[in-house]
Formats: sequence, C-alpha cells, structure tokens
Amino acid sequence: MAAISATSAKTAERLLTVDEALERILSGVPSLATEELGLLDALGSVLAEDARADHDVPPFTNSAMDGYAVRGEDVTIAPAQLRVVGDIAAGAFPTRPIGPGEAMRIMTGAPMPDGADTVVRVEDTDNGVELVTIQAATQRGMSVRARGEDLRAGEAVIVRGTVLRAAEIGVLATTGRSRVRVVRRPRVAVLSTGDEVVDLDAPIGPGQIRDANRYSISAAVRAACCDPWMLGIVRDTPDALRTALREAVSADMIVTSGGVSVGDHDHVKPVVNEMGTMDFWSIAIRPGRPLAFGELREGDRRVPIFGLPGNPVSSLLTFELFVRPALLRMAGHSNVARPRAVARLLERIDKPAHLRFFARGVHDPVDGTVRTTGPQGSGILRSMSLANCLIDLPAGHDRHEPGEMVELILTDQPEPRS
Ligand code: AMP
Ligand code: MG
Repeated sequence: MAAISATSAKTAERLLTVDEALERILSGVPSLATEELGLLDALGSVLAEDARADHDVPPFTNSAMDGYAVRGEDVTIAPAQLRVVGDIAAGAFPTRPIGPGEAMRIMTGAPMPDGADTVVRVEDTDNGVELVTIQAATQRGMSVRARGEDLRAGEAVIVRGTVLRAAEIGVLATTGRSRVRVVRRPRVAVLSTGDEVVDLDAPIGPGQIRDANRYSISAAVRAACCDPWMLGIVRDTPDALRTALREAVSADMIVTSGGVSVGDHDHVKPVVNEMGTMDFWSIAIRPGRPLAFGELREGDRRVPIFGLPGNPVSSLLTFELFVRPALLRMAGHSNVARPRAVARLLERIDKPAHLRFFARGVHDPVDGTVRTTGPQGSGILRSMSLANCLIDLPAGHDRHEPGEMVELILTDQPEPRS
C-alpha cells in the first residue's frame, strides 16, 4: 500500500477512472490468514485447503427408487412374474443374493443385493408380497446408483479457493468434515462522522439527520459474508476522530462515511495522515465523489481504511464498487466482480459526459429490459432500495435513449415488486 500514498500528488489533479481506482485498491489489500471453522460457520468463506473424499459416495451400490431389485434379463419383457425372496429397507443390508426368477422388495437408498443389477419401480408392478408381477418392461441398470458415482475416495472434491455455498457445505458434510480450514473473514470497523448525525433511538433535533450509513454499510459488510463492527457516530472534531480510529485500528478494515469533502469540518484526511496515510481521490463517477483510501499503521499492522462520502447513495454505491471487492479479496476470493448483463433501456437518461454514471435500475431479465428507479439524487436512498441492478453508463456520452442496449451490474436477485 506504500505505492498508493506515493502517487497522491499526481492523482490530486486528475480524475481517476473507476478501474484505475479499483486496481490500486486491490493491489494494496492483503489476503487474510486462515482459520478453522465449524462447517456451518464456513458458509460464504473461501476454502483454504483441498477437501478430499474419505470414502466412495455413495459407499455402496443402492436403489434410486422404491421397488423391486431384480436381474435385468428377467424384466426385459413384460408382464413377468418373479418370486419375492426378501425385503431391504434403507439402513439394512441384504443377507443373501438373488437368483434367476427372483426379486427383493427394496427401498430408496437401500443396498442392492448381489445378483441384482436393476430396480423396477413399484409403480410398474402389482406391489406383490410373495409373487410380484412386473407390468412394464424395464431396461437393465435402471434406478440403480453405483458406488462412487458421486465422489471417489481420495479425490479432491472441493478445491482450495472455492467459495462455500450450501451445496459445497453439503459435499463437505458427506465427506465427514465437521471443521474446515478457510480464509478468515475480515472484521470491518464501521463509523459515521458528522455533528448533524444522530442514532436511531435519539430524537431528531433541528438540523439533525438519522444515521443511515452506519447501518447500510454494516449490512453491506454482512451481505459480503464479512463481520461488521459498528463503532459509533464521531463528532466533527479531530480529537473525536482520533479516539475512534485508535479503537478501530484493531479491525481488519475501517470504513468511515462523511467528512471527506473539502468542508471546514472534514477532518478525516488530516487525522488519518497522523496515524498512517490517506489519499483523496476524485473518481470520474456519479454518484460517489470523493473517495478517500489509505491505511492506518499500528506497529507492524497496516489496516486499510476507506473514507466514503456522506451522502447515503454515494456511500453505499462506493462501498459496492470499491469496498466490497477489497473485502472479498481479503477474504480470499479470486473473483471479486458481480455478474453483468446487457438489457434494453426503457427510458431516456441524461448524465454528465465526462463521468461514468451508475444509475439505479430495475432489470427484468425475462423481457431483457431495464428502467431506472426514478429520481437519482445522491441523497435519495430509495433509488437504491428499489433497485436490483446498477446501470453502468460509460463516460463519453451525455445521454442514453430508450431502446439502447446498456450494461448492468447485477447487484441483487431480480424480484417481482408490486
Ligand atoms: P459529508 O460528506 O460529511 O459532507 O456529508 C454529505 C451529506 O451526507 C450531508 O448531507 C450529510 O448530512 C449526509 N450524511 C453524512 N453522514 C450521514 C449518515 N451517516 N447518514 C445519513 N446521511 C449522512
Ligand atoms: Mg459531514
């Protein structure tokens, strides 16, 4: 991260692009060490070791249906009548093989008896107890799950670097892993700055506003499967900020909002510069200027710090574009980008030509269209709460017309909204 501060003089005059800023951020954030977690707690973390199957899965050849285990050649022509010589429930093990003209009742998941290679579904029989009539010809090998068809003993079934979702947790459970080694998830100190900002249960006095940012940013941290640590609201004095940052420096990352413009009361930069370094970046985006990024130092530790703008839309949007990828990188993710899509714009959008504009949009993936969420001011947080995507409009144009194909960043699952 030393490289970042060295460039501050140069970047002060010129607008950085989003990609340049992100590249600098990502090159400066370290990946965290690993830790062992209980399996369920590892949901959303990145696996830090190859996980191998400790046995074949399934461990024995078994039935995929409730029905009758038979020899394939006995059921190629229907109807056929077979003698029922046993009954195998899931969890039981067959005690004898079957021979020609014989069948065993078998339940889903129960082991196949020796000699049988096919299961006839109960629906294709008369459900007989001593004799069974096979009513539909069944192909040899039907409804049988082979030993090891899912996982082979010794095989790396989930490789290091994989993000653990519900399916991976299930596979790890199958292989008997009650604890797994993962990249530690970042703990993120989140604080708000501003004399006008009050907490949720306080009355709102003249000139005061509620603290939206500490909650929205902490929620976004949690949504990225990291751990928010909510520090309080910091008054607009250097001392208050100093005290707060001294506490925050034990986190893996610090995110502040407000106080990074050039107003008289904006103390973030000078105070951070006492305890580390911070650069003010003017990024060619709307909303979201300015953004501050640097590091606090404490002994050998270097803690990345983001100073996000105070406007609620700007802070959440710059979190999405810059902080979230940095957090994911720290948490060991190799892919830190959201999925993208292209859609047909339904309305006209005007924008400053020299800025990349991120309009908050509603994407309908079925008809391939997108519209904005209405008024797009950087204080209008509803423009984000109504959105399921960002419409990513590049610098170089001052207007986009209905019918144009535009690029989207898919920030959320599409959901029908009433
Ligand atoms: P600042 O970046 O501190 O100049 O703040 C820019 C705008 O964002 C001002 O209108 C602030 O009142 C508002 N703002 C700052 N912090 C917050 C916050 N935590 N929650 C909601 N609005 C805020
Ligand atoms: Mg402020």
